[in-house]
Amino acid sequence: MHITQTLGFPRIGKNREMKRALEAYWKGTLDGDALLATFAEVAREGWRTQAAAGIEKIGVGMETLYDHVLDWMVRFGLIPARFRDLSGLERYFAMARGVPGIPALDMTKWFDTNYHYLAPEIEADVEPQANFDDFLALVRAAQAVLGARAVPVILGPVTLLRLARLSVDFGALLSKLLPLYRQLLDALNALGVTEVQFHEPALVLGDAAELRPHVETAYAALGAAGLPVNLVTYFDDVGESYPWIVALPVDVLSLDFTRGDNLALIRSHGWPQDKALSAGVVDARSVWRIRPAAVMALLETLRGYAPQVRIGASSSLQFVPYTASREEALPAALRGVLAFAEEKLAELAMLATGETAGIDAAWAEFRAFAPPDPAVQARLDALQPADFTRALTYTERRPLQVQLPPFPTTTIGSFPQTPEVRHLRARFNKGEITQAAYEAGIDAFIGYTVGVQDGLGLDMLVHGESERTDMVEYFAQKMTGFAFTQYGWVQSFGSRYVRPPIIYADVSRPDPMTVREFRVAQSYTRKPVKGMLTGPVTILNWSYPRTDVPRHVIAYQIALALRDEIADLEAVGARAIQVDEPALREGLPLKPARWDTYLTWAVDAFRLAVGRAAPETQIHTHMCYSEFQDILSAIDRLDADVISIENARSGDEMLRALAEYGYPREIGPGVYDIHSPVVPTVAFIAGKLASFVQHLKPEQIWVNPDCGLKTRAWDEVIPALRNMLDAVREARGKE
Ligand code: GLN
Ligand code: ZN
Repeated sequence: MHITQTLGFPRIGKNREMKRALEAYWKGTLDGDALLATFAEVAREGWRTQAAAGIEKIGVGMETLYDHVLDWMVRFGLIPARFRDLSGLERYFAMARGVPGIPALDMTKWFDTNYHYLAPEIEADVEPQANFDDFLALVRAAQAVLGARAVPVILGPVTLLRLARLSVDFGALLSKLLPLYRQLLDALNALGVTEVQFHEPALVLGDAAELRPHVETAYAALGAAGLPVNLVTYFDDVGESYPWIVALPVDVLSLDFTRGDNLALIRSHGWPQDKALSAGVVDARSVWRIRPAAVMALLETLRGYAPQVRIGASSSLQFVPYTASREEALPAALRGVLAFAEEKLAELAMLATGETAGIDAAWAEFRAFAPPDPAVQARLDALQPADFTRALTYTERRPLQVQLPPFPTTTIGSFPQTPEVRHLRARFNKGEITQAAYEAGIDAFIGYTVGVQDGLGLDMLVHGESERTDMVEYFAQKMTGFAFTQYGWVQSFGSRYVRPPIIYADVSRPDPMTVREFRVAQSYTRKPVKGMLTGPVTILNWSYPRTDVPRHVIAYQIALALRDEIADLEAVGARAIQVDEPALREGLPLKPARWDTYLTWAVDAFRLAVGRAAPETQIHTHMCYSEFQDILSAIDRLDADVISIENARSGDEMLRALAEYGYPREIGPGVYDIHSPVVPTVAFIAGKLASFVQHLKPEQIWVNPDCGLKTRAWDEVIPALRNMLDAVREARGKE
């Protein structure tokens, strides 16, 4: 028998109890005690499930009201000045979500996952102060259920500081924090805890070597507290830092064997005989069952190196939904190879005994159910370099494309998703109205949206996306190879959960996906309407992909489907088509050394989607951030005729970088922030335009909001766009 271990479990409640409780609390219809009671019950339910599955070392402490990084900021008293007059839950949620006059902390992605954490802001005058009461209470509650199997999970000091926006010296702050961490270990020791997990995912980042002195200082101190320390990393291998990481004075090292290549590191450097290895072999970020033979062989190899090998999940299981067993609407053959959190617990137990019978049969049944699609395979096999390149260069094709006034105006695609729009879709999905009635309703929204844009005087219009709940799900539902869960929610941040589609087979597009709505929109106006598609990399990155083919192959399959869609849009008169790639940059690997490989295929997938567009078709793309100074050459290689980017909240660093790079094509840096309900003034937008012309050539500049308008109300959108157009008219007068 081998010891099994988890590093965290879903924490939103099997029936999304935490979301309901949080939203009721924020609305004032639930009090703080009731919120905490729901939290405690959701946590307990997770512990019971893990105990029932027979897991021996159960990670306790990733459970959270909103975000686990925020929890540790608060426990260490790392509170920015603007929140210091508040306290308790009021302060906690103010840090998470802001209150009038006090902006929230910045939210950003947790490594390369789709979970977002709150970035610690550490100001120069901050004096760390420990308050571990809530954590110790949580550990005690877990001990009541799990006894000695409860292993407290602590966010490691190096990762906490590495993720922070620091206005103080790293080492100086670390030396203030370590005694507090030590205090925590002493308190846990007094509770009879037998081991603690320190999560240090920062050790897989490309710059981990620079953290070495801090890591060594920290674990010399923490390892001496008399409690066995399990140092946990995940999301990649530990790279060149391996030799000094395995020499740290800790008792157990947990490594991820589902990403990166920790095995190669062990092979070339060996394993220290004084440490147990916990092997993260069950992939906590995929929804698929294990391939027993491969995992058993890996464990066998590892046992040849380490004196003790534990069997673990690769990271917290919060990145997968609770259980596949409830997904009865999915075909049995597919459900049989899905493993969400509960099924992964069962896999850990099976691996510990070596009895994995049944899984191979499930895979065999699945292969018969979802065989490769020969037509898709043939198209992939036939691809030539020319498929990835437009027939003419930008300079050659630009004169053939739409001609618009200087500083052409447009939007990013979506218009307000009003209660009426959502109600219409809900009635259709419940079967309460016919397809024809639904389409008539959508067409009315399209008509209104086009009419507003035309009336305000925009130059390039959109249909408004009222038929889409989600920019990935909409396309996934129209392509083969995707499956959808009913209950497969995972936390994106706080009370926001998503239900990513599952890509289980070859992807193709049986029928046009967007042509009907495009034609309706274009029929209402003489101005050009942009076709609106979601790009291959974004569809891939926001889904759970299959794992039996490489990611780039899936991206190419999606790209080929989009390429057919582009041809169909052209055939009905589209003169411009936007292919959104908001997730392109966030898909960057954690180690910069792997960026090139990723960017090569990601950009190629985009180029494959648009490569056969006629030279007359203006290809647009959109990305939701402006920090791509470091990937400018990849952006350039997209060869999009027009790119719109989020920019309103940044200074002009991005414009400067584009100018310095000599970016040769057209670009629409957002002129106002759509996340805010504030209507931007003409003067504000004019100021943005003035800064654009300082850096870019006038003929390069497009004018548009930062991102889609779907979260806004019409009475915010109309005045904002009117001001945008007034500012443009002024600027045109000056040209
Ligand atoms: N076209 C999409 C919209 O306007 C783009 C959304 C996004 O960038 N995330 O909503
Ligand atoms: Zn966007």
